[in-house]
Amino acid sequence: MRDRNLKTAIIGGGAAGFFLAINLKELCPEMEITIFEKSRKVLAKVEVSGGGRCNCTNSFASVRDLSQVYPRGHRLMKRLFKRFDYRDAYAWFERHGVRLVTQEDECVFPASQDSHTIINLFLFEARRLGIEIRTEHKIESLEELSDYDFIAITTGGMSISNSSLFTLHSSLIPPVPSLFTFSIEDEGLHALMGTVIEDASVSIPGTKFRSNGPLLITHWGMSGPSILKLSSYAARELHEHQYQMPLAVNWISGKISGNQEAAKEEIIKLQAQSPMFKVSKVRPFDLPSRLWGYLLEKSLGERAQNRWQNLNKKEVNRLVNILCNDTYQIAGRAAFKDEFVTCGGVSLSAVDPNTLESKDIPHLYFAGEVLDIDGITGGFNFQAAWTTAYTVAQAINSVILPKDDTFM
Ligand SMILES: Cc1cc2nc3c(=O)[nH]c(=O)nc-3n(C[C@H](O)[C@H](O)[C@H](O)COP(=O)(O)OP(=O)(O)OC[C@H]3O[C@@H](n4cnc5c(N)ncnc54)[C@H](O)[C@@H]3O)c2cc1C
Repeated sequence: MRDRNLKTAIIGGGAAGFFLAINLKELCPEMEITIFEKSRKVLAKVEVSGGGRCNCTNSFASVRDLSQVYPRGHRLMKRLFKRFDYRDAYAWFERHGVRLVTQEDECVFPASQDSHTIINLFLFEARRLGIEIRTEHKIESLEELSDYDFIAITTGGMSISNSSLFTLHSSLIPPVPSLFTFSIEDEGLHALMGTVIEDASVSIPGTKFRSNGPLLITHWGMSGPSILKLSSYAARELHEHQYQMPLAVNWISGKISGNQEAAKEEIIKLQAQSPMFKVSKVRPFDLPSRLWGYLLEKSLGERAQNRWQNLNKKEVNRLVNILCNDTYQIAGRAAFKDEFVTCGGVSLSAVDPNTLESKDIPHLYFAGEVLDIDGITGGFNFQAAWTTAYTVAQAINSVILPKDDTFM
């Protein structure tokens, strides 16, 4: 018989902190749980997430391999998914009274289309279960929490760069931003602002980094899912190169399968079909007209006003090359208003992969973005928060259970 209840301190009142607190309290009603939050407001990121709608998970229906959606941490996520995955998260929210909807693009949102539905649920459950929330209480060092039996750090991504909390912890991967758009200095391109190409492929020449999907031309450069994915895949390398690297765009990858040869065949066919038409007047591959005009100008200059029959072989090659391998210079990183996460954090080699307990300090756990796990846009980052938080709740519970009831 213990002479007092066990106590858990959770540092950080974000998505991971609340999910952990609620699950732990459901498992161990006797546990005294306190969430320490440095700001006045808890769950601030949940509120602004998904444009205020909170893209809380994904159906994963179009995910063949977790490395596609978790550039860092996919192996650990695969392991932890055996215990708590997106189906479990979906069921958890519905069981707690939040109706969810899955969009055509597989992103999952509360049916209310309002992030406050998630926030209200967390606050309601925390109150109902008797979880203490201390706002405006920044934890500076673990010694402050010496009377707690368990500590979970859920302080989010960038926290490790400026917190003395981590001075004790050996393996930190320096945090750098992920999920951003590219600034490109090209006035001709900026003039195409608002143009969307439904399926382009983008890559960083000389590297393995490539992605595909919708591409949006903006007044500062390029954005859209294909660019955000590429920024995530190449987050560290782009940071190392001060966000100055080349970018190759295949504008027609969604229209034509195969290589440049297949594109060339199509162009030659078009040339034979419309010899008397001006090149600018007949658009191949349903390209938006402004984009076609810009690409023609870039590849053929004044010759863009010619008829198809007057294009020589070299010009056809230049045209094909610009359609399939148009190159730009990334000049910088621009903010993406909807989402931003951190690549880096507590190294996964520093935690037990079954429990997320620190290998250095017993009874110290990590969950959420503070870990070196991050995903692309689409609800994958919140899913990582739910999965890691649930894992820690189960792990703490298993420490206090009689030995034959442990969950491992
Ligand atoms: C604008 C925006 C939109 C997003 N939209 C989506 C989306 O729709 N879907 C999705 O999956 N992901 C989205 N994300 C990413 C997602 O919000 C994060 O991955 C997620 O919030 C991480 O949760 P967390 O609890 O680990 O960290 P956080 O939400 O960052 O919470 C950490 C908390 O810890 C507190 N804290 C830090 N240090 C201390 C300390 N020393 N003491 C006490 N408290 C401390 C912080 O103040 C913060 O409240 C978005 C991110 C942004 C910025």
